[in-house]
Amino acid sequence: MTIPVSVSRILFPVTTLGPGKRVGIWFQGCSIRCPGCISADTWAQQPSNMTIDELAEKISGPLRDADGVTVSGGEPFEQFQSLQTLLQKIRPLLKHGGDVLVYSGYTINQLGHRLQALSGLIDALISGPFDAQASQTRPLMGSDNQEIHLLTELGQQNFSAFLRPRNQDDDRIDLTMDPDGTAWMAGIPKRGDLERLRSVLLETGVSIRTTVDRQVRS
Ligand code: SF4
Repeated sequence: MTIPVSVSRILFPVTTLGPGKRVGIWFQGCSIRCPGCISADTWAQQPSNMTIDELAEKISGPLRDADGVTVSGGEPFEQFQSLQTLLQKIRPLLKHGGDVLVYSGYTINQLGHRLQALSGLIDALISGPFDAQASQTRPLMGSDNQEIHLLTELGQQNFSAFLRPRNQDDDRIDLTMDPDGTAWMAGIPKRGDLERLRSVLLETGVSIRTTVDRQVRS
């Protein structure tokens, strides 16, 4: 069965959203729209741009070298059937010990039966909306109201090391550049880092336009 999916971007390797070198998949479309979200370009609901089979084919090469997959967005659970099919498809393709981390802006209670339906397919889940007013003291999370859930034995094994306060190692971001000069960032920047980067670059005569500046509303 061909299941369509709307994807914003796929990056590899991502080293800042879970352990090791990861395939990062950003779903397109999020109705939660947290103020201050750094992925505001993924908010607009857009028509599907590939099938899950095509997505799996695209990531099959990187998956051979990847330590895991991180699915973010956008809101992955708003394309639930696509998410479920993707996770079913990639699980057997992961190398031994490779894990799956999924981000959702919904709380664990809001996810309810949808999360139960993915039992065994997600090793670690980070749930809850980004709150720009909350503190930011933990790794992998943009704000302290969010929660990390280690859902499998593999999740316990690979993510227990992240149950600690944020430290300098967490202040990294991944940066990749498309041939057209568009730079993509992955990771959880420290509060205010993007504004600091913008100021530093402006002093050298370089201006940047972030996806927050060009967010698309639907
Ligand atoms: S932080 Fe996540 S849930 Fe919140 S608006 Fe951004 S993509 Fe949506």
